[in-house]
Amino acid sequence: MNLPGLSMRLNRKILMITISILFVSLFISSVVTLVSFRATYTDALLRGSFGIGHSINSMLKELLALGLPIESLSGMDAKLAEVVAQNSHLTYAGIADTRGVAIFHSDPQLIGRRFADPVMQEIIQAKEPAWRYYDRFDGKRYFDVSIPVIDGDKRLVGIIRIGFLASQVENRVWEAVFQIAVNNILTFVGIAVLLNMFLLRHISRPVGLLAEQAQRISQGHFNVLANVAGRDEIGQLATAINRMAATLAEQFRALEAGKAELEEQVLARTLELAHTNAVLEERNREALEAKTQAEQAAKAKGEFLAVMSHEIRTPMNVVLGMTDVLLETDLDSEQQRLVQTMHRSGKALLGVINDVLDFSRIESGRFTLSELSFSPGQLAEETAHLMRMAAEEKGLPLLVEVGDVPESVLGDDGRVRQVLINLLGNAIKFTHHGQVSLRLSLHSQEQQTLLFRVSDTGIGIAPAYMEHIFQRFSQADSGVTRRYGGTGLGLAISQKLVELMGGRIWVESQPGVGSDFYFTLPVRVAEISSSLPDPVAATAGATSRSLRILIAEDSPDNQLLFEIYLKKTPHQLVIVDDGLQAVARVQESPFDLLLTDIEMPNMDGYSATRAIRQWEKGAGRTPMVIMALSAHAGIEKRRESLEAGCDDHLTKPIKKQTLLEAIEQVARSLGREPLHSPVNDSV
Ligand code: ADP
Repeated sequence: MNLPGLSMRLNRKILMITISILFVSLFISSVVTLVSFRATYTDALLRGSFGIGHSINSMLKELLALGLPIESLSGMDAKLAEVVAQNSHLTYAGIADTRGVAIFHSDPQLIGRRFADPVMQEIIQAKEPAWRYYDRFDGKRYFDVSIPVIDGDKRLVGIIRIGFLASQVENRVWEAVFQIAVNNILTFVGIAVLLNMFLLRHISRPVGLLAEQAQRISQGHFNVLANVAGRDEIGQLATAINRMAATLAEQFRALEAGKAELEEQVLARTLELAHTNAVLEERNREALEAKTQAEQAAKAKGEFLAVMSHEIRTPMNVVLGMTDVLLETDLDSEQQRLVQTMHRSGKALLGVINDVLDFSRIESGRFTLSELSFSPGQLAEETAHLMRMAAEEKGLPLLVEVGDVPESVLGDDGRVRQVLINLLGNAIKFTHHGQVSLRLSLHSQEQQTLLFRVSDTGIGIAPAYMEHIFQRFSQADSGVTRRYGGTGLGLAISQKLVELMGGRIWVESQPGVGSDFYFTLPVRVAEISSSLPDPVAATAGATSRSLRILIAEDSPDNQLLFEIYLKKTPHQLVIVDDGLQAVARVQESPFDLLLTDIEMPNMDGYSATRAIRQWEKGAGRTPMVIMALSAHAGIEKRRESLEAGCDDHLTKPIKKQTLLEAIEQVARSLGREPLHSPVNDSV
């Protein structure tokens, strides 16, 4: 590609600069030449005029030497006219007398006329040859040469005056100016043409070629070499550009090669990634599968534990219930001792099962705390009361001290009681003399925090063991198990429970002196009272009466237990095996109370409750009291029961006392009403 614009511009610039310099120098030289020409020319004319003047003077002197007076010299006019005619530049030639009057003149008409000018007086006085400007009567300016004529007696006898037109010099100068101008313009044009040719050849064209080459390089054509020779800067530039092109070409080749290699690598990496991706997906799938399996296993474990605990606890409760009942019968002392041992062992076994179940629930995160308002002071008193018998059996007083604590707080009172029972149980177990105490106060440093402290004067704990005391299955030494029994789970569960409730548990102890177990509980003050009904308040002061009670329970052992529990009460009892039968019996004849297990075959307790409630509504019956019996404690379960339409929720294993109290409350609340609602039996 050619770049005419570029070389033209460059060319024009150089040309303009050169022409400007040329023009200025030519102008200056022309002016100088003209000035000097004018001076030289004027000088030459004046010199010539002086020469003529002097020859006239010498001629006059010779004639005067002959003694002739100047006025008498004849033929002088013709002589002067001849001189003017022979010297083309001269305009006039004359001889004046000492007064300035022309005696002879090349122009005969002017003879006798004065050279009427101030010049004449100067010349007469100076008596020296000289030239002056002379503005003549014709209004023109002249170069005037005057030469005094002196006779043998050194007297001034006349003045020779020769003149030529000043404009003649100017004309000649203008002629010269014209000539010089023509010459200069020709020279000027010639030089410009030559210069342009030179520039074109040596600068513009090679620069254009180089620009073209650079352009090609910029477009990626590295192999076209610029054909510019020479050792000047342009030649060097060309060499440099060619070298640059070669380097670029080489780098470009390397780059291309690199690119190909890179592309190969990228392809390889992509393939590798795709492979890795596939592997990852596979792993992910495997991990998901493993996770599902693990979840299933955890679920299975949970279910297993629930089933097992249910399966163990149900017969255990029956055993305990039966031994309770047995203890009420006439037994000889040996039999009494055996049954009591049986009862104690059963209770211990149930405790272990409950511990294991609690622990596994806490560990698997399936443990929920209920939230009800309770009085912490009352809780402390009640728990101590519960444990006092065991303490007194060992001859240990159990002291309780309740400080200034809130009357009512929110929390899971059952779990707080569980921790207290565990700590008090340990304190009693590991103390042989002295005392056991329970203190409840507000924490002195932590705001809004209850501090429970269980102290004993027992065997204490060795410092080395204190660190591990709250770890599961942890006991001071193996001898402990043999001497005191226990699983080492109690403190681990206590710690977990306290932490779940937002508190801390710790111990201070000195072997042989005693131990102090502390735990804290952040107080949340109960503002709203529990939404659950308070049956005790509702029935206070009422009188009791006999009830018709329907029990839905699938386990025959439990059925037997209920039968035994209620044998000596005035209530009538009907027992069915599932929810379906319960609904059918309720529709057959009215009952005051339904005690229904929740998990049953055919129809569960909740479904049965809902069916009964719906039937009561449709038939216009007064709703009967329904109590759910469930192995699960906790506020959630309780709420579920209430939502299904139950009035209350009892947690299994149900102690005889608890059951009788619950039934008694119902009996009292109904005691204010007629025995049966006035209902039409023939539905
Ligand atoms: P265990 O069911 O064995 O009592 P715990 O977790 O309740 O399980 O207690 C763990 C161990 O901590 C006990 O076996 C005993 O060694 C020690 N311990 C707990 N409480 C006391 C205490 N009040 N005095 C001395 N040792 C105690």
